Amino acid sequence: MMRESSVIARATEAGALALETKVPVNDLTRHVEPFLEQLGEVARQVIASGYFVLGPQTKAFESAFANYCGVSEAIGVANGTDALELALRALGVTRGHTVAMVANAGMYGATAAMACGAMPSYVDVEASSATIDPACLERLLKQADPRPAAIIVTHLYGRLADMSHLLKVAQVYGVPVVEDCAQAHGAKGEDGRRAGSYGDVACFSFYPTKNLGALGDGGAVVTSDPVLAGRVRQLRQYGWSGKYRNELAGGRNSRLDEMQAAFLQVMLPQLDGWNARRREIAEAYSRGIVHPCIQVPAVAGEEYAGHLYVVRSADRTGLQAHLASMNVASEVHYPTADTRQEIMVRMGHMPTLPVTENLCDSVLSLPCFPELDDVEVSKVIDACNAWQDYG
Ligand SMILES: *Cc1c(COP(=O)(O)O)cnc(C)c1O
Repeated sequence: MMRESSVIARATEAGALALETKVPVNDLTRHVEPFLEQLGEVARQVIASGYFVLGPQTKAFESAFANYCGVSEAIGVANGTDALELALRALGVTRGHTVAMVANAGMYGATAAMACGAMPSYVDVEASSATIDPACLERLLKQADPRPAAIIVTHLYGRLADMSHLLKVAQVYGVPVVEDCAQAHGAKGEDGRRAGSYGDVACFSFYPTKNLGALGDGGAVVTSDPVLAGRVRQLRQYGWSGKYRNELAGGRNSRLDEMQAAFLQVMLPQLDGWNARRREIAEAYSRGIVHPCIQVPAVAGEEYAGHLYVVRSADRTGLQAHLASMNVASEVHYPTADTRQEIMVRMGHMPTLPVTENLCDSVLSLPCFPELDDVEVSKVIDACNAWQDYG
């Protein structure tokens, strides 16, 4: 009798504890835990090798990652924003140019363009996908004089933009396409091609929370154009054509280090499995969350890498507060359109982008990372469905 009741007491405690434990939006401790030994071993090897920057690990990772993306070249750089900047510079983007891009993707493209001395030229997004609207892009390319020097296409939340349509539009006007794949590592189109293999050049971030993350900063530019690849290789190292021979203007120091390249080689074989689990979670959410004031994204196939699972609600503030009260964390990606950011507004007139602005006010990212367990997934679904005081 004694024993039975103490078991019940303990079970109740565990239940209460489970309720109290917050479902986080991300948990990198869980993410790396199965690989602690392997990561430690490769770190030891790098340390013992005495080679720390742009060495054999970087070469090996570049080759593996190019192969994974289905392109001929990958160039490791310091982070995703540098990848965008160096890709733009390699395309010749410079002072006085404009770069077409969306305004709902966190300002990364604008930061890169402005680092080249160019200005963003903003295009609205499609309501269904939250990615660049091909019709709006076409309107801009038709009217803009001079025409943008490049187009950045962001595969937001890990969902491939409408590449076949966009590439056609870009081709008609002869404007090169830069894919921003920082949220879309491994996303695969219906034609079997991966994110990064569609544009003239593509950019990746390996920031730790990305689908393929390092244990620090990292990034890559990928392309099948040997001329662009050669330029990015020069630009990431002072514009050198060889040691101490500064040939190409606009050079920087932006290199991937050996430690991160070694870690990324441990992680890369896991990417498809991680993405599959992300999609499984997203699917469970899209089927399980049924609420009049929460709009869930359509269930997607491999064209969605599950980087972020983003719902929309007219009462986003209320939903976020309700979830927090149920110990479910959430975040907003992204709360402010580029066109409403202080540094952009200060620069002068910014266009009104109705779809973008509506999304910025309504999007909410729920926990979605590969190590989230089924109990947590159910908890998130139940918490959403239990939301009552919406308005
Ligand atoms: C994270 C991210 C970047 C920037 O990558 P960093 O490595 O943090 O510089 C660029 N674009 C998008 C869409 C991102 O999500």
